Amino acid sequence: MSKTQVPLYDLVANNRPHLEEFHEALERVEESGEYILGPFVEKFEKELAKVCGVKHAIGVGSGTDAILITLMALGIKPGDEVITSPFAYIHTAGCIVRMGAKPVFCDIDPISCNLDPAKLEAAISPRTKAILPVHLYGQTCDMGPILTLAKKRGIPVIEDADQAIGAKYKGKQAGSLGSVGVTSFYPTKGLSAMGDAGAVLTSDDALAQRIRLMRVHGIEDGYQVRHLGGNFRLDALHAALLSIKLPQVEADTAARRAHAERYEKRLGELQVSTPAESENCFHTFSHYAIRVRGGGRDPLAAHLAANGVDSRVYYPVPLHLQPCFADLGHKAGAFPHAEAAARETLCIPVFPEMTRGQQDLVIESVREYFMAE
Ligand SMILES: *Cc1c(COP(=O)(O)O)cnc(C)c1O
Repeated sequence: MSKTQVPLYDLVANNRPHLEEFHEALERVEESGEYILGPFVEKFEKELAKVCGVKHAIGVGSGTDAILITLMALGIKPGDEVITSPFAYIHTAGCIVRMGAKPVFCDIDPISCNLDPAKLEAAISPRTKAILPVHLYGQTCDMGPILTLAKKRGIPVIEDADQAIGAKYKGKQAGSLGSVGVTSFYPTKGLSAMGDAGAVLTSDDALAQRIRLMRVHGIEDGYQVRHLGGNFRLDALHAALLSIKLPQVEADTAARRAHAERYEKRLGELQVSTPAESENCFHTFSHYAIRVRGGGRDPLAAHLAANGVDSRVYYPVPLHLQPCFADLGHKAGAFPHAEAAARETLCIPVFPEMTRGQQDLVIESVREYFMAE
């Protein structure tokens, strides 16, 4: 493997322009003496809610915690079922199982790699207590039919917008479409912290209030605890830094969209499928996932690595085939589109700061691989 010329992300480049402001923020937080929740968190929550088109944003410790506290606040319990995508990060099904509930998988659409609404109705049972669609790669699921069906059956929808801050569906922000949304500020996300952080988004006043209480163990006035929570707090320092970076989301998204457009022009005619923007969607391309059929994905990744180009597979194992969920009893073949996506997708660099020269190297390396075939 040669020296990296094009990393998958350049996290330092994403933070460095703000360093002076970060230092000032550190001083302000330090001098305030308010290190847990408090004014910096409140300020960031207000700004985030506005950007995401919801009444309430509640800062928490991570995207995973955002899902867990949401499931807790919705009262998900043993015996309940939550429908989600088999092609996602482990945390979705993981949190469902940690609640003692059962993840019920619903296969994905082979083009968008997002949960296929046409398969949803068949997955609903009298035990279904929530639907958890994951907006993968920076694009929302086809939310119209999902929301219609959920409303008809009276089931809450939790949008996983961890990869999709700034994405839109019919002009509405990801995370504002369902009953509640969650997002992550993990360092590689569209809005990124220098550490772990996340948020819950909702316009439901009662749910927001409950989640705010549960974020601090559920302790109410008079030290009463009715709804047991935990320590799910966002740090004041992270909130202060995130406030500084929030206005940058739009420009970063525009930069990634420009990269995606250029990839589309230069890779479109090769034997790879480039990601398409679905109808009604505004794609943020938080990841640029190409599809390589016929077993070529891993050889392509090796070829890129030899040219100094990083790439990564999100996600190589579909959730229903994870050993930790073996007791759900799923066999290979159960969700064929998720399984094909796990075999064929490869995420190539699309970070906002990628230079023209770096992108040319990615494009030339991909072209070289297919031309040599
Ligand atoms: C990053 C990511 C997560 C994890 O969020 P954390 O903040 O690391 O807990 C969850 N879901 C998706 C889709 C992600 O991309």
